[in-house]
Amino acid sequence: MPSRKFADGEVVMGRWPGSVLYYEVQVTSYDDVAHLYTVKYKDGTELALKESDIRSQSSFKHRKSQSSSSSPSRRSSSRSRSRSRSPGRPAKGRRRSASQSREHKDDKKKTIQETSLALVVLVLLKPSENNTKRYNGEPESTEKNDTSCIILEQKLKPDLEIKRVLEQYSLRSRKDDKKTEEIFSEKKTFVAVKPIEKVPSKTKELEFGGRIGTFMLIFLLPATVFYLLLMCKQDDPSLLNFPPLPALESLWEWRVFGVFILWFFLQAMLYLLPIGKVVEGLPLSNGRKLQYRINGFYAFILTAAAIGVLLYFQFELHYLYDHFLQFAVSAAAFSLALSIYLYVRSLKAPEEELAPGGNSGYFIYDFFTGHELNPRIGSFDLKYFCELRPGLIGWVVINLAMLLAEMKIHNLSMPSLSMILVNSFQLLYVVDALWNEEAILTTMDITHDGFGFMLAFGDLVWVPFVYSLQAFYLVGHPTTITWPVAAAITVLNCVGYYVFRSANSQKNNFRRNPADPKLANLKFIPTATGKGLLVTGWWGFVRHPNYLGDIIMALAWSLPCGFNHILPYFYVIYFICLLVHREARDEHHCKQKYGLAWERYCQRVPYRIFPYIY
Ligand code: NDP
Repeated sequence: MPSRKFADGEVVMGRWPGSVLYYEVQVTSYDDVAHLYTVKYKDGTELALKESDIRSQSSFKHRKSQSSSSSPSRRSSSRSRSRSRSPGRPAKGRRRSASQSREHKDDKKKTIQETSLALVVLVLLKPSENNTKRYNGEPESTEKNDTSCIILEQKLKPDLEIKRVLEQYSLRSRKDDKKTEEIFSEKKTFVAVKPIEKVPSKTKELEFGGRIGTFMLIFLLPATVFYLLLMCKQDDPSLLNFPPLPALESLWEWRVFGVFILWFFLQAMLYLLPIGKVVEGLPLSNGRKLQYRINGFYAFILTAAAIGVLLYFQFELHYLYDHFLQFAVSAAAFSLALSIYLYVRSLKAPEEELAPGGNSGYFIYDFFTGHELNPRIGSFDLKYFCELRPGLIGWVVINLAMLLAEMKIHNLSMPSLSMILVNSFQLLYVVDALWNEEAILTTMDITHDGFGFMLAFGDLVWVPFVYSLQAFYLVGHPTTITWPVAAAITVLNCVGYYVFRSANSQKNNFRRNPADPKLANLKFIPTATGKGLLVTGWWGFVRHPNYLGDIIMALAWSLPCGFNHILPYFYVIYFICLLVHREARDEHHCKQKYGLAWERYCQRVPYRIFPYIY
């Protein structure tokens, strides 16, 4: 066994990888193959260090007499001595008042400031999964970690690096410190993270049942859509009353396909209109930010106007109802063709543009989950466009067609109360999504999932044709509800909407501008990536309050269909499964991203979606 200088449990000074900063750490283990010590920093971060990056505490103590600073790095040069201890200090506008800051005890401030510095330096150096895994205590190739440190050490000259850290995070001199005593605590002290270039690694953990699961889903998803639509057409849509299969040739009509294509390209044209603001998305792994035009709501208004004109000229919108299955087949064929195109073009995409979740190297898996993260033709972002436009606006148009079909088939002068509720609730949901279009830029679909069959089919087929199931059901299965019942369902939908909207806005605003004065009352846990995790407000209630609101709304959309059949409840049942699975995926990603901080968050907020249940 090779000799080791430091014993397990010994408290020593560990160099922060790639920097000249030393912090008090505790040796937790030693890998005698890689010759690396695993050390734990005061904030709980664990890293593997070479012996040359560790010093005994005594080697620092004699220098202490030369300086009053507690940070070894500060003692190493006069320049650093003049700097603030807190790199996590916000820019001017974000600073808190002196009276607020006096509330905080000095010792707490010191500890947190040191932690912040460690976290900032970490982020600057390598915000990669390798490091994150280390925090989790998950073994990763130590060689990889080590190499990155060596490369960075070579790249960054120590004092240049300190300068960079200090400049980037607006570090202030001690003089300034005295003038405005900053606080950190769990309040707003934030650092903007600038990820440095990294090449995404291969997707190692396969989701959705891996290759077999995704292969089966490619068939199962379309089969489910057709089963549901065929069932809905039956007089008795009981689960075990399987519908007869239609003749294959009856499923395809070129005219219907033409209308679908026309619809898709109309929405594409509206997306290209130079109206609406242009915003930046979250930073990509290479630090670049893509630009997105926010004009979904305008597209919706223009589409509504166009539909109004068509109706005025007696266009039979229930053509959609009459050819519903054929439209679904056309949309499915189109989404399959689009997925093939997306996969083929992704083969030429640079490594850094591949999706973190869809880069497994297995054709089926990558085809399903999406290989390329943000496929674009020029500035036309295919995924972003499909997420909200053709399918989501299409869903509302389908609902309207169902409403008109109900009136025509049952010879009604007014749509049924159930139909009005379903149409209104879902219209609110779609308008909300388009009004808050910018919020989609921080969702998993945009930031993590690639654009492949899953999202193409989901956006273009599943959303418009399955989410409109209640309206489709009501055409063939009229349901009468009383006004008090309608009022109760409306209240339920409003409660769900309130939870959903306020939770999403809270998180979105916090992600976009953590220093927003409107969020000043919220507390958060800082994380090694520089982002915080909210622990009060909605995100302190459960870990996915937005899912809770969404599920409450889903129930409100099904209730107007009565209790004769389970079919209209398919949406809420499926949606609970989807969001429980999605929550688990997100939880897994967050654990990888935030390590210990995420565990602390889970301790403070123990329930995932349903308080006291799950
Ligand atoms: P969320 O909007 O819930 O985002 C999850 C992300 O939020 C995490 O990855 C993390 O990202 C961040 N986060 C988690 N916890 C915290 C916290 N405590 N403080 C701050 N940030 C936190 O994810 P989705 O994209 O799944 O959902 C968006 C909305 O879309 C939801 O309302 C959902 O219900 C809805 N939805 C609707 C569907 C439908 O078919 N109708 C389908 C799927 C979703 P990071 O830290 O990186 O910012």
